[in-house]
Amino acid sequence: MNHALLLEDVSKRYSGHLAVDGLSLAVPAGTIYGILGPNGAGKSTTIRMVMNIIIRDSGRISLLGTDPEQDREVLRRVGYLPEERGLYKKMKVLDVIVFFARLKGVDAAAARREGERWIEKMGLGDWRGARVETLSKGMQQKVQFITTVIHDPDVLILDEPASGLDPVNQEVLRDTILESRDRGKTVLFSTHNMDQAEQLCEHVCIIAGGRKVLDGPLRDIRRANRTSRYAIAFDDPCEEAARFLETSPSLAHVLREEDGWEVELEPGHDVRELVSTLNSFDVPLARFERVELSLHEIFVQRVGNAANPQRRPEPAHV
Ligand code: ADP
Repeated sequence: MNHALLLEDVSKRYSGHLAVDGLSLAVPAGTIYGILGPNGAGKSTTIRMVMNIIIRDSGRISLLGTDPEQDREVLRRVGYLPEERGLYKKMKVLDVIVFFARLKGVDAAAARREGERWIEKMGLGDWRGARVETLSKGMQQKVQFITTVIHDPDVLILDEPASGLDPVNQEVLRDTILESRDRGKTVLFSTHNMDQAEQLCEHVCIIAGGRKVLDGPLRDIRRANRTSRYAIAFDDPCEEAARFLETSPSLAHVLREEDGWEVELEPGHDVRELVSTLNSFDVPLARFERVELSLHEIFVQRVGNAANPQRRPEPAHV
């Protein structure tokens, strides 16, 4: 597999505190990859090491096939949105975008043309001539996002891109990330919001306390964390089904819910038997589906309380 980014056994210590501890990860080219974890997990430190803003203590990094510490030129092919946002506040919107594009080597005409295109796309048309400082925080963030993508980089590295954005602008961000991926770009972003990541990422790496908790394709993580819990509902009330579900020895837990039941199959029982029993009742079965664990639930199962990232997880690769 072609990887846009590889980290092998990378560590970083800040005056006695191990912020990133032997982290390895592989970001396949052309995919959306999420680095997830609670605050303080080491996400920004990892990203800053990739961007060569922080020098790693040990380990290897390969970005687009080269070590960014040895070959800084490779960083021109990256669009980086730092966690601390900051633009020249006195500059006008289009000017600041053109300024950053020029820094990244885009010629003046292309910088203006692309700048205009992005400004329209982000709904900032009326603000192109306004000073950055007069824009709302959300709008400033959109401008900063434009400065990140204006040179059409092969890899986007976005540190907590959604923080501070309202739901509408989060949607815009999401569409832009998907569009970049569809154009063959690689998008790596960090977030502490696992629900958001779950909707967007094809691959994730969850870290806590500087160490990897788990990584891999989301699909495989889901498969490896399958439950034996099922959500069941019938088209109409069904006494017979209620009696069966509430007394069947094949079920470990049965939870009555507003529109049906959630049950857990006892180990050793075949789900097909359960389905065929449910299908034998007079009232048609309207819903039968496995209850999937959310990424957050998987994380909590592995690490314990997400609010306590200090506990060191055992690494696991799916
Ligand atoms: P995240 O991005 O996941 O919130 P960070 O990478 O910012 O995590 O931080 C990881 C750990 O390193 C935290 O405990 C944080 O307090 C510590 N840390 C981050 N930057 C510095 C720094 N410049 N000096 C000392 N400690 C730091």
